[in-house]
Amino acid sequence: MSRSVSVSSWLLMLCLVASAAPAELIALRADRMLDVESGRILSNATVLVDGEHITAVDPAVVPPGAEVVDLGDVTLMPGLIDTHVHLTGSDPSFRNLVFSENSAAGALRGAANARTTLLAGFTTVRDLAQLHPTLDLITVALAEASEAGLIEAPHIVACGHALSITGGHIDPAMFVSSAEGVLELGPEFGIADGVDEVVKATRYQIKHGAKVIKISATAGVMSLEGSVGAQQYTEAEMRAIVEEAGRHGIKVAAHAHGTEGINAAIRAGVASIEHGSLVDEESLQMMKERGTYLVLTAALADIMQLDGLPTPVREKAEYVMPLARENHQAAISAGVKIAMGSDAPLVPHGQNGRELLTMVDLGMSPSDALRAATVNAADLLGTPDRGRIEAGLLADLIAVGGDPLQDIERVLDVQFVMKAGEIYLAP
Ligand SMILES: [Zn+2]
Repeated sequence: MSRSVSVSSWLLMLCLVASAAPAELIALRADRMLDVESGRILSNATVLVDGEHITAVDPAVVPPGAEVVDLGDVTLMPGLIDTHVHLTGSDPSFRNLVFSENSAAGALRGAANARTTLLAGFTTVRDLAQLHPTLDLITVALAEASEAGLIEAPHIVACGHALSITGGHIDPAMFVSSAEGVLELGPEFGIADGVDEVVKATRYQIKHGAKVIKISATAGVMSLEGSVGAQQYTEAEMRAIVEEAGRHGIKVAAHAHGTEGINAAIRAGVASIEHGSLVDEESLQMMKERGTYLVLTAALADIMQLDGLPTPVREKAEYVMPLARENHQAAISAGVKIAMGSDAPLVPHGQNGRELLTMVDLGMSPSDALRAATVNAADLLGTPDRGRIEAGLLADLIAVGGDPLQDIERVLDVQFVMKAGEIYLAP
């Protein structure tokens, strides 16, 4: 037998072994299981996992040969989903990363943050860019590395570079320089003006693996421009982005603080308003009619240390945060669809669950907050294969101590994490 034949038959054998591998059957048992849709706790649950998927919930018989993993006195629930993170960022200190580190350093930090996030019970995240010319596409690489099993990380839905007007909230130059010739970026890096450029910017992100498009509809807090809420993209530009992304089956998330920009973004058809600090009655009405999601990113107001921030940033934060709190409460009362998003690292990576505590503090019931971080978030991401515990869905499952419907703080006590059938944390 020639060497080439023996190598190919060896490869064939490997393929056969690989295709047989997912047959490993696991029967997960727990004293309690959360049914997020009904908002009820069921007792003595068994979930069968075959390979990457859930194959049965509370089967009449556990098939012989299944490995039984008894988690005991915990509540089994769907893996949590954070729809607003920045994995490659580690702190909001305005350190000049663009000039002070190479992209490999950012990639390694992103991988570490992703692992921390997974072990905190978040099996899927949507990453909305780091406002940084080299780190943004790294997050797309992290997403692909996660799916390939190269790193321990959540499933990542990444946006590539976020889109901003020249000099706008997401223009990386806003953080480091107003000097002519320094970081003058174009549509490839997300800095795009006018319909033609925003379409090109959108296509470029999608070419490089973006699964969501992030835009900056208005000015923001965490950058040095004067206003916090001024509209930046025109409605026509936002509409062009939404239409172009939509042709690829991709949704648009709009960073938006000020009322005019929020309402223009909703009319343009974005899938979610991020922050939404100054939503008014018209915004809430339109969001309900169109099913636009609101991602509050509310916990950061309780957590961020404003003292260390540059003065204009601190002043904007002090102005907008109390207003956002009132408006978010109005949005919750109005019954707008809400998906959970922490804006980590503004809430430290791994403490993403604190957003659920703040949502309850703002008036949501624990079951509504948990739905925002599971079924609603999966709906916003366009990933119907997760967010619930049901046969056929991905085996993205976590377990927490106690009963999170009685005490939402239990979401911070994550004792078990399974992503796509693989166990990353066990009691
Ligand atoms: Zn953010």
